[in-house]
Amino acid sequence: MAQDDLFKKLIAHAKEYGYIFQSSEIYDGLSAVYDYGQYGVELKNNIKKYWWDAMVKMNENIVGIDTAIFMHPEIWNASGHTSAFNDPLIDNKDSKKRYRADDLIEEHIRKYQNKIDKDVAKGHKKFGDSFDEKQFLETNPNVLRNQAKIDEIQGRLVKALEADDLNEIKQIIIDCEIADPVSGSKNWTDVRQFNLMFETQLGSTADGASKIYLRPETAQGIFVNYLNVQKTGRMKLPFGIAQIGKAFRNEIVARQFIFRMREFEQMEMQFFVKPGTEMEWFEYWKEMRIKWHKAMGIPEEKYRFHKHDKLAHYANAAYDIEFEFPFGFKELEGIHSRTDFDLKQHQEFSGKKLQYFDPESGESFVPYVVETSIGLDRTFLSILSACLKEEEVKKENGESDTRVILQIPPALAPIKLAVLPLVKKDGLPEKAREIIDELKFDFICQYDEKDSIGRRYRRQDAIGTPYCITIDHQTLEDNTVTIRNRDTMEQERVQISELAKIVDDKVSMKKLLKKIF
Ligand code: ATP
Repeated sequence: MAQDDLFKKLIAHAKEYGYIFQSSEIYDGLSAVYDYGQYGVELKNNIKKYWWDAMVKMNENIVGIDTAIFMHPEIWNASGHTSAFNDPLIDNKDSKKRYRADDLIEEHIRKYQNKIDKDVAKGHKKFGDSFDEKQFLETNPNVLRNQAKIDEIQGRLVKALEADDLNEIKQIIIDCEIADPVSGSKNWTDVRQFNLMFETQLGSTADGASKIYLRPETAQGIFVNYLNVQKTGRMKLPFGIAQIGKAFRNEIVARQFIFRMREFEQMEMQFFVKPGTEMEWFEYWKEMRIKWHKAMGIPEEKYRFHKHDKLAHYANAAYDIEFEFPFGFKELEGIHSRTDFDLKQHQEFSGKKLQYFDPESGESFVPYVVETSIGLDRTFLSILSACLKEEEVKKENGESDTRVILQIPPALAPIKLAVLPLVKKDGLPEKAREIIDELKFDFICQYDEKDSIGRRYRRQDAIGTPYCITIDHQTLEDNTVTIRNRDTMEQERVQISELAKIVDDKVSMKKLLKKIF
């Protein structure tokens, strides 16, 4: 499927099959806000469990917490968010469209990269196996010219962002002759900083309400509870605190479905270490996190690391794990070495010591932090986009047909098992119910008796159910059923008593975790 097509189909499929709905749809929707439907919430919960188990259950030295969305406003001064959590914004005077200025420039850079990629593809086509890509990239004049352009613009952008030089950012847009992607106009306003935090009031105005923020990340809830957890849990360095929760960002341009939303969920883990050991742990967590992704069985080439050129004010090393979404490789997760910046800032702003006493050396110090931060919704989107497939299948009458299938990793699939009586009579529905009543303690099962068996299979394929079992007249005689595998469409006759084991083998979270640990 072409990638553009895939993305449109994915959005339509997510709605049609109860995964994701536009928020407030009957009121014409609310831009970039989405609701998860009956299957979406199950997939989301399963992703959370997979992450939580991989962090908290599998690591003795990591514990979880759940902190409030509202926090003391001073926290955001300490963390730097009130002054520095900004994106550079630019408006086009003709189209009245608003953009992130750095995004416009990145998009422009991507055009040069695409030219290079095209030249490389041509080389492969023309010369086949004898094509030396490395040499081509190092010597071809077109490639070198385009690469020089990329380096020049990228260099200017990084410098301008680091120096907060908004005039220079605008100058890059002018020099590169970047036009509004919608109208083609080059009539731009100046670049302004835009703070991404949502504000609200705590208390009624009559008693002097104070301004507070909806948290833009879950990490600060962990930092301000560092000492509570360390002391009450008698935690020894190195140790981690994990949290899953909502975060809010007033994104300038929220788009690409659930990729960039204004209300979203993060899964973050802060790992507190002895100063000087942070690079070792940074490498460790980079490896562990990529393993977590790859264990799901999604093609490995869809993931890659991206090293940050511009480091955030608090970091001394940062990598993203990028995923190849239908609109290209984009950030899915960040792994950051955050030094002792946050704890030191909170120490200074709160006036409370946030130190660790090392019983071995007898010293007290502020720990360093390595963080892993992943978007739950982006993970959801990565899974859906890698798993939505269309397959040509032959019907019994020889005609070909298209099967739409969501090949979600079985451990994460919303419904694990569909139980289908062949006909709605002769005691088959009752037998099906009996089986569900036994299996529902272990798996989410779905009963379906409507339409032909073929159509029912297709419905389950579209939801992503790994197994369907069919109850027929023979079942009543010998307690056997046919079990159909979603991916291979193979059917097998098995004893009802074997079902729990067969399904568990396929959908077990334990097996998934064992690929990592
Ligand atoms: P981006 O560069 O895409 O804006 P970021 O670098 O600001 O992301 P972080 O602050 O590192 O993101 O947040 C950690 C993770 O939270 C990201 O890797 C992403 O998966 C997720 N995330 C961040 N912003 C959003 C958003 N607006 N909608 C959905 N997920 C998000």
